[in-house]
Amino acid sequence: MAWDFETEPEFQEKLDWMEAFVSTEVDPLGHIGLHPADVKNPRYQALVRPLQATVKTQGLWACHLGPELGGQGYGQVKLGLMNEILGRTIFGPSVFGCAAPDTGNAEIIAHFGAPEQKEKYLKPLLNNEIVSAFSMTEPQGGSDPLMFVTSAVEDGDHWVINGEKWFSTNAKWSEFLIVMAVTDPDASPYSRMSMFIVPTDTPGVEIVRNVSVHGGRDGSEANIRYTDVRVPKNHILGERGGAFAISQTRLGGGRIHHAMRTVGACKRALDLMCRRAVSRKTRDGVIADKQTVQMHIADSYIELEQFRLFVMKTAWTIDKHRDYRKVRKDIAAIKALMPKVYHDIAARALHIHGALGVSNEMPFAAQVVGALVMGIADGPTEVHKVTVAKQHLRAYRDVDDPMFPAYSLPQLKQAAMEKYGDAADIVREIAESAEAA
Ligand SMILES: Cc1cc2nc3c(=O)[nH]c(=O)nc-3n(C[C@H](O)[C@H](O)[C@H](O)COP(=O)(O)OP(=O)(O)OC[C@H]3O[C@@H](n4cnc5c(N)ncnc54)[C@H](O)[C@@H]3O)c2cc1C
Repeated sequence: MAWDFETEPEFQEKLDWMEAFVSTEVDPLGHIGLHPADVKNPRYQALVRPLQATVKTQGLWACHLGPELGGQGYGQVKLGLMNEILGRTIFGPSVFGCAAPDTGNAEIIAHFGAPEQKEKYLKPLLNNEIVSAFSMTEPQGGSDPLMFVTSAVEDGDHWVINGEKWFSTNAKWSEFLIVMAVTDPDASPYSRMSMFIVPTDTPGVEIVRNVSVHGGRDGSEANIRYTDVRVPKNHILGERGGAFAISQTRLGGGRIHHAMRTVGACKRALDLMCRRAVSRKTRDGVIADKQTVQMHIADSYIELEQFRLFVMKTAWTIDKHRDYRKVRKDIAAIKALMPKVYHDIAARALHIHGALGVSNEMPFAAQVVGALVMGIADGPTEVHKVTVAKQHLRAYRDVDDPMFPAYSLPQLKQAAMEKYGDAADIVREIAESAEAA
């Protein structure tokens, strides 16, 4: 009997340490106007580096990685529990060496990179000495990669890249970009594109503007123009034409880790909702005594627990198979579910806080927008639901009789009668034999 929802005591001790450390040392960093990707900023150096050193001495650095890359190889279940704590804060992932999009970028360089690429880019990325950006989405094509037109053409011993990308998160702080470009326009849809490592200071890379998502003028979502950007041939990442497969590797891990952190963000919203409910007074008691408020709290708890169990079960399945492709349906399902759960809990927390809830004194408005972003970034919800449905339908595709007689009720009844006989006959037979006796 292997169903077990308990945390080993030794690991629980680590989680308890994390809880205290994150609350007292890490959470405040998110409120001083520093960005977690601004690693070269002297304030980042002064404030974040010592905390990272503490995390390393605790053996909790970069826990998404295996030991061969300097991580602990804890696996996804333990990572899930850790990410719940980190996901409540803005700086948690950076202080613990597991911030997106660098985690995903590191993962693909680790999997597909040549030894010299690993030496030059992976090592400093894993140490958070530098940050990176993933440059895939184009203004005319997001959800559908077949719309991408940015091209890379061979010229002597170089590739020459031309095109325009946007929403390349953190590009303005990045040391390098991982760029997806069309190298083989006539190849099959999934083999047209390749990936390239492009140092951000390469001539021809121009950040046209930095778009902000939650308000503010100078955001982190770069619109980048690539004009005759030349990179040596060995800057291709993985096989020529392999970009689509590589990006799936990257996004599988990214999505589940995002969901783990979202569990933490939802917990925080529910925690604040409850604190407000028991402390906000009306003439006849606190608002926690009102049934409608109780409904908000009950719904939030129920939805959060369902979501959390789904995330943890999927984490467990990934640990079991060690292959994201085998867990594709559930990762897509979680990606589709996450924005709704997060949105609904954050919106209730906002509502229960009244005017304070919509203000920038509380995190809820940003969380609600963040939930909407989750429904778009890494592919919109509709696309993930289609994946879930397609994967789920696979097992049914082999049934070739459209009438499905195997489970029609008359058919089932007939089979049951043949197997067990008619209950009415049996009752009659018993009655007749009793009478005869
Ligand atoms: C905050 C943020 C950060 C991001 N970071 C990055 C990054 O670092 N790197 C990067 O490359 N990209 C990034 N993106 C881009 C992201 O991957 C795209 O926004 C996403 O793939 C959707 O593409 P789109 O915005 O062009 O929307 P569109 O493709 O135009 O889709 C718009 C809407 O159309 C509908 N739709 C589209 N396709 C389908 C379909 N097949 N079936 C049903 N309905 C459909 C959906 O309702 C969808 O929401 C980021 C986006 C955001 C918001």
